[in-house]
Formats: sequence, structure tokens, C-alpha cells
Amino acid sequence: MGQGACFRCGHSLDENDGLRVLTKTCASCFSLLLSTGGKNLSDYLESLDAPSALLDHEQTIVFANNRFRAMVIDHNSSGLRVGEALDCMYAATLGRCGDSVACLLCKIKRSVEHTLLTGEGLCRVPISYPHKTDSRRTFLIATERVGTKVLLLLESQP
Ligand SMILES: [Zn+2]
Repeated sequence: MGQGACFRCGHSLDENDGLRVLTKTCASCFSLLLSTGGKNLSDYLESLDAPSALLDHEQTIVFANNRFRAMVIDHNSSGLRVGEALDCMYAATLGRCGDSVACLLCKIKRSVEHTLLTGEGLCRVPISYPHKTDSRRTFLIATERVGTKVLLLLESQP
């Protein structure tokens, strides 16, 4: 048995299921935790090892854990779109994150939309985007639907 146990019910998790390991919950506990909101939700999100943000359908950040906020320059991510928080160069030059022509090809946006539409969580999706100051940033993301929102997890650090 590995170290992976569900945050809510304590049952051990399938170590081969990347999304369950990342979210540290069984699928049913994940839905329950995220639908309750409030302190349970924030305690849970802070317990995750991955920088994580809850996004609405426009990729606006509703809630982000400390690990995610630490990556944002002014540490305040609420209300920002994900590309603004991650300092995507396109968001600064081409228009609002999610609305520019470049966004049509954005894997983050497409993954979030796919998960919202189908309910299918994604794992280990490679992302690469032009960063405002670094030349490019490349990392892996995972997405899991929560009602009308999506939890975005950064599997590897940008
Ligand atoms: Zn559970």
C-alpha cells in the first residue's frame, strides 16, 4: 500500500490513477468536498501538493491555493484569468486571456473546456506558452470538473 489515501474518507487510492493521486481523493469524495465550499474546500485545496485553482467557464480564478498564489506576482489571483495569473505573454499583448486569437490554440483553455463539456478529467496534459519574462514555460496540467467549474492542477512546476 502506498501513502496515497483519500483526504475525506481515508481509503487508499489507486496509485496508477494520476488524477486521483493528484487530487488526493476518490472521485465521489472529490465531488462532495468541492460542492460543500467554505472552509472544507479551502482546507482541502491547501492540502494538495500541486498548485491548484478553481476556474469558471471563462477561465477566471474563483479560488486558488497558496501554492498557486505563490506563483502570481502580487499573490492575489482571485478574479484574474488563468493566463493573467501565469503571466502568459499573449494576455498582456493580444487581449484578455481566453478571448484572443492565440487562445484558440491554448491547451489550458481547451482542456478546461473539454472537461466542462464532457465531465472527463484530464491528466498529464503538456502545456507550453510564451511567458512575459522567461522565453517559454512548459509544464503538465490536470483538470477535473466540479459542477459548473473546473479544478486546474499544475502537475509540474512552471
Ligand atoms: Zn474518499
